[in-house]
Amino acid sequence: MSERKLVRNSAHCLDCDDEIVSTHHHDFVRCSCGRLAVDGGVEYAPRVYTADARWEDTSIYEDDLDVADLGLWKWVRSQEEDDE
Ligand SMILES: [Zn+2]
Repeated sequence: MSERKLVRNSAHCLDCDDEIVSTHHHDFVRCSCGRLAVDGGVEYAPRVYTADARWEDTSIYEDDLDVADLGLWKWVRSQEEDDE
């Protein structure tokens, strides 16, 4: 019921050590080894990965206040401005 609002849609592939971030709706990003991908920007957070992929979700939600305090919120806002 209480849907959490995404401020950063990202994941970290433990196989190739890539941090991939989808910054907008049609931004499909795949990691170097191709096992993991993110899509959808901050509107939704689909994860595409192979059965043998090892990865961790590094997405940030609006209620992760500790993280927002570190300035990542600001970083996300500036990314959005770059899309203009
Ligand atoms: Zn990878």
